[in-house]
Amino acid sequence: MKVFDLACEHDHAFEGWFGSAQDYDTQLARHLIECPMCASTSIRRMPSAPRLNLSGASERPAADRSSSERGLVPQPSGTSEPSAVALAPRELQARLIEMARKLIASTEDVGDRFAQEARRIHYNEAPERAIRGVASRQEARDLADEGIDVVSIALPQALKQPLQ
Ligand SMILES: [Zn+2]
Repeated sequence: MKVFDLACEHDHAFEGWFGSAQDYDTQLARHLIECPMCASTSIRRMPSAPRLNLSGASERPAADRSSSERGLVPQPSGTSEPSAVALAPRELQARLIEMARKLIASTEDVGDRFAQEARRIHYNEAPERAIRGVASRQEARDLADEGIDVVSIALPQALKQPLQ
């Protein structure tokens, strides 16, 4: 499993998970990789931040990396990015569910009025608050065009049920 730091033409950064570097190339060539924020398929790879390996396996020496894999990465020149921590899938999933719960608890569900409500808040026609809801790709694209920041997250199915 490979985790790549990606960004679209609008500099929205996100992570993509791929079976291999080859999978990434194939999906990119077929425009299957889509920005979760604006649905753009003009995607590029960002220089990867060093990842901390928590699994206990020893880090491969840099010289061991295949040249084809490294060829895809534009080498950062003297940038000091914060290092990311790679989590085991189970732990990652638990974190995501926890995050989703917090998100649900701290946002107002406006359902399919999301785009309309986001716009009203942006233009100060409604009180500023965090909202969540459903927007079509076209709506999300329109909001991005108007400079309204929305984040697209697929919530786990189990959390879509009303909270007890
Ligand atoms: Zn984007």
